Amino acid sequence: MIVFDLHCHSTASDGVLAPRDLVERAGRMGVQVLALTDHDSLAGLEEARQMAGNLGIRLIHGVEISVTWHGHTVHVVALNVDPTQPELVKGLAGNRGGRAERAVRMAHDLARLGIHGALEGAYGFADNKELIGRTHFARFLVERGVVKDVKTVFKKFLVKGKPGYVVHQWAGLGEALEWIRAAGGQSVLAHPGRYQMGKEKIRLLLEEFRILGGDAIEVVTGSHTPDQVPIFAALAAEYDLLASVGSDFHAPGEGGRELGRLQPLPAQCRPLWSVW
Ligand code: AMP
Ligand code: MN
Ligand code: MN
Ligand code: MN
Repeated sequence: MIVFDLHCHSTASDGVLAPRDLVERAGRMGVQVLALTDHDSLAGLEEARQMAGNLGIRLIHGVEISVTWHGHTVHVVALNVDPTQPELVKGLAGNRGGRAERAVRMAHDLARLGIHGALEGAYGFADNKELIGRTHFARFLVERGVVKDVKTVFKKFLVKGKPGYVVHQWAGLGEALEWIRAAGGQSVLAHPGRYQMGKEKIRLLLEEFRILGGDAIEVVTGSHTPDQVPIFAALAAEYDLLASVGSDFHAPGEGGRELGRLQPLPAQCRPLWSVW
């Protein structure tokens, strides 16, 4: 059986390993087909491709696009995209462009609680300054001793209703899917089990995603609990969507899933790679 991992992050966004080190680690973990899917950025792909070539790993060009859908932030993973395609390149630049101002607002919000220096602190964790995001703030809050680990940060801070959360407008779902189509890629709704939506809203999202031309959903992901896997396998079948797998790895020892350490897709799923 081929080992796939179609979702992970490098220092080009909020991972802690440089693309070459990430690919090297994936190789050690037995991954044979790896997609690098940094948030809103294609900057790590070139380096990752070179290392993958050296190691005999198949590298899939990917990116995880931040989307605002009916007031919710959702993530769409694009796979097999042409990283030079102008519509995609321009669209992603637009998504990145809003991050600096958002970071300033996040830091202001934290300062009101007496947590000072968050902006500088977060940027200190961001290798790619354009990609400043919540994970960098989370690492700063852990370093500062405000919270014990990154996982806990996302319970007490930076999420809807908690300090450090700011409303932000990302790309529209239709727009993101259009960029992916233009770049010749497939679109995958990332970690659907993680969205704070009721069952009906999730169904609406799947419905709209399908109608707009979405290809697949992540069924097996580091963000799903074991009991969510069969639920999303069934939904994928119901909405005639392909199924994808990805660890969403960010950093060793940060509590997320390790590269390639994923259960197999349930038998009822049609894997995304069946159309490659
Ligand atoms: P941003 O794109 O700046 O909104 O940051 C989103 C990132 O924050 C995600 O990709 C994760 O890396 C991280 N994140 C969000 N929610 C959680 C969570 N509950 N636990 C751990 N990391 C999270
Ligand atoms: Mn992330
Ligand atoms: Mn995500
Ligand atoms: Mn991710």
